Parts: sequence; structure tokens; C-alpha cells
Amino acid sequence: MGAGLSPIASSTLNTAAPRLPSVDKLLQTPVLQGLQTEFGRSSVTNAVRQVLDTLRLQLRDGSLQAEQVQETVLTTAVQQRLTERFAPRLKSVFNLTGTVLHTNLGRALLPQEAVDAVVEALTNPANLEYDLETGGRGDRDDLVEQLICELTGAEAATIVNNNAAAVLLTLSTLAPGKEVVVSRGELVEIGGAFRIPDIMKRAGCQLVEVGTTNRTHAKDYAEAVTENTALLMKVHTSNYEVVGFTKSVSDAEVTAMAHERGLNMIVDLGSGTLVDLRDWGLPHEVTVRETVEAGADVVTFSGDKLLGGPQAGIIVGRKDLIARIKKNPMKRALRVGKLTLAALEPTLRLYLHPEKLAERLTTLRLFTRPQADMQAQAESLVPQLQAALGAAWVVETAAMNSQIGSGALPVENLPSWGLKLYPASGKQAGRQLTQLEARLRALPRPVIGRLHDDALWLDLRCLEAHMQPQFEQQLSQLSK
Ligand SMILES: *Cc1c(COP(=O)(O)O)cnc(C)c1O
Repeated sequence: MGAGLSPIASSTLNTAAPRLPSVDKLLQTPVLQGLQTEFGRSSVTNAVRQVLDTLRLQLRDGSLQAEQVQETVLTTAVQQRLTERFAPRLKSVFNLTGTVLHTNLGRALLPQEAVDAVVEALTNPANLEYDLETGGRGDRDDLVEQLICELTGAEAATIVNNNAAAVLLTLSTLAPGKEVVVSRGELVEIGGAFRIPDIMKRAGCQLVEVGTTNRTHAKDYAEAVTENTALLMKVHTSNYEVVGFTKSVSDAEVTAMAHERGLNMIVDLGSGTLVDLRDWGLPHEVTVRETVEAGADVVTFSGDKLLGGPQAGIIVGRKDLIARIKKNPMKRALRVGKLTLAALEPTLRLYLHPEKLAERLTTLRLFTRPQADMQAQAESLVPQLQAALGAAWVVETAAMNSQIGSGALPVENLPSWGLKLYPASGKQAGRQLTQLEARLRALPRPVIGRLHDDALWLDLRCLEAHMQPQFEQQLSQLSK
């Protein structure tokens, strides 16, 4: 290796290039020995080569002087490269955006019961697909199917990776090569490229659009039915609301039309809550049970939206139809892993005790936090935040509105409280704000707020009391 360096040292093209230490020699230094213990020999060797290459170039183009190249410069550069490359990528953040079920921040936070069950499932074999009575092969859906049926009134249930998969699997099982009738007012796009027309195509179905964006009548569905129709479908317009001069047809009416014609009616419910949220003073969102009771043959919804569980797609409905869905070979490709089922079961179990749900189900606890709690918390945080930011910033407590998020109840707001930050001087306020937002995002545990109306808003709804000490610790790092 050492010999490999001599061509540079003796190069007639560039006699000024100094001799850099060899890779082997560097690997022997105590610092790099330590790094090898942490990151492994081959990644350290690669990093050393890359650092040497960079330095060589810098020496040649004169941006670095030979006397600046000391061993510590080299080892520090290697260390930096390795820590950056292998720093954990998935980081916990503070979600102060005001959107509780934030899709980009991982949606629902799970209750402790689910966390414990996941740890157990991670570290022990379990009867995932093993019938403990017969000793034969079992069905993983059995672990949660009865609970789901109990909570929704459905005859049968099956679980897949997410609701998009649930819709895809349902359509491709019940209507391959056939027509599916959907109202134009319900052709939703959900963030991250879930679009009803695209899913329909992928499932091998032909979408038949009826009505107009704002108004769809019963006769629109009736007139669209041909001998090639398999399903009438309703899609919950979960992330928008059509308001004004509108007309849509109820689930029960669409079901009646479907059944009169020997067709099935399916509903993509999106968020799909298992309880009547009005019981907690929240706005009403149609429940899975209501949809099943309206006669829908199959209903699909997400596990990590209002339900408050892990990412999953839950398909409930008539026993014969669910049996067909489970037999579709695509089910095997879309099925959930044991961690999902381990987390889902105890989450569902909490619903057996609705009177304790607001305390035990994390999402519901966040939705129902009293505004006074957040207000007191905001007031207690002002002095620290003001000290961290200095006189250049105005730090105020302010009433604000949180959103449920993930499409649930898109136009409803939850009265909240938090902090409003804006520059004391209006000069280049926009730039100052985006810089502050970036500083908060760059903290070891990033703080994510919301820029709005010439201020940075930190909604405290999702900062529960037990997280406050850690949050304050981040604030103290802000001034550094
Ligand atoms: C959220 C949503 C989906 C997608 O569900 P994922 O669980 O994110 O796959 C599909 N349809 C509707 C109506 C939704 O609200």
C-alpha cells in the first residue's frame, strides 16, 4: 500500500503533491481502531479512501496546503463521514404541526398495550398461523377477526397492509374485468398517489363515473348499471368536503339499488372510526358499524387513522365475500406481518371499554385534550423559549386550531393552544421565519411546527406532559 503513494510523491506532473499516509497506516491509529469497533473494518477503510481521495484533489488544486494535512485532520474527517453516514435515519420528532394524525409523521401513536405486545412478538415465537387446539396450520386473520366483528357488527374480516391494499384487493376479487359505478363527487385522491381511478385500473376494473362533482342522484346510479356491472361503490370523501349546492345518495339507498339488481355495494370508508366520536364532544364521523348496518356488503378502512392502531387495511363484510377475498392470491402479497397483528389486537381490545378509551387510546386522548391544559403548558414554556431565541423574536401564547388529520373530518377544527413566534423586526420576516423553522428541524430531536400568517405556530396538543422535559431540553440546545 505504502508503495502506492510513491507515484504521487515522485510525480513529474505534480512535484508539489506531498506524501499522504497510507490507508493501512491510518487504520492502525487509535482513533480509527475505535471507529472500526463501532462501524466495522470495511466501512472505515472505504471512508479513509474517500477522505484521502478528496485531500489529494484539494492538494493538487491548491485549495489545501500540505502543512495543513495532519493525522488528526484525516482521522477527524473520517470520523465525520462515518457518523453522518450511519446516523439513525428514523428519528423521533415533536409533532407541533397541529395535525394529530400526520401521515408524513407516521400517523397514529400507539397505546402502551400495543407496544408491549410488539416487543413480546419480536422476541418470542407465537401462534401467528398455528392452531393451538389441533396443532395444525392456522389463519393469521383469526387473531383479530372476532374482535373486529364484535366491534363493527360485520360477519367476517380480513387484514392487509393498508387501506389502499384493502381497496385494491376487494376490487380485484369482486369485480375483475367488470364495471364499478362511483359518483364523480367521490373520485378522491389521498396523499401519496392513492387515486380511485388508478386503483380501479390496477385492479382490472372499469370505472363508471356517475353524477357531477357536486350532485349525484339515485337515478344516476340506476341508469349506469349494465349487464357488465359488478359493484356500486361509495368512497368516503375523507380529505375534502363538497359544500354548497350538493346532493349525494346515502349508503342505504345505494345499497338498496345494488341489491335490487343483484349487485354488491362496497364502501371505502378511509378513516373508519369504531366509536361515535360525539360521545367525546367531537364532530360526528360515520362509523364502520353504521356503514355495515346501512347494508354495505364490504367496507374497507385504515388501522392507523381514527382507529389509533398500526398501519393496516381492514376489510369487513359478508362472510362469503370475505372468504373470496381471502382466497385471492394477491392476499398473500398484501398480508400483514406479526408485528402489525400484535399491535392491532390490544388496540382493538381497548374498544371493549369505551368509558376508558379517552384515557387509554393515545389518539383519542390527544383529540380530547382540554384546551386549558395546552394553554397552561404554553404559558409555562414562554420564558424558556424567549430565553432560547433572544430579543429578536416575539414569543406569545395563542389560541389555535388543531386538525384530526389523515383525511378524517377535514373541515372540522379542534380548539387548541400553543406558541406563536415571529420576528421582532419585520425586516425580511419571511426569511427569518423559514430560518427559524429550519433551526427547529435541525435539533437532535426535531421540532416540527407550522408556518402560517407570518408566524411560526407550535400547537401543543401533541406535546403531552410526559414529553415536556425532553422538549425543554431541545429548547436549551436552540440557543447554542
Ligand atoms: C386514507 C384513505 C385511503 C388510503 O388508506 P391507507 O391506509 O393510507 O392506505 C383510501 N381511501 C380513503 C377514502 C382514505 O381516506
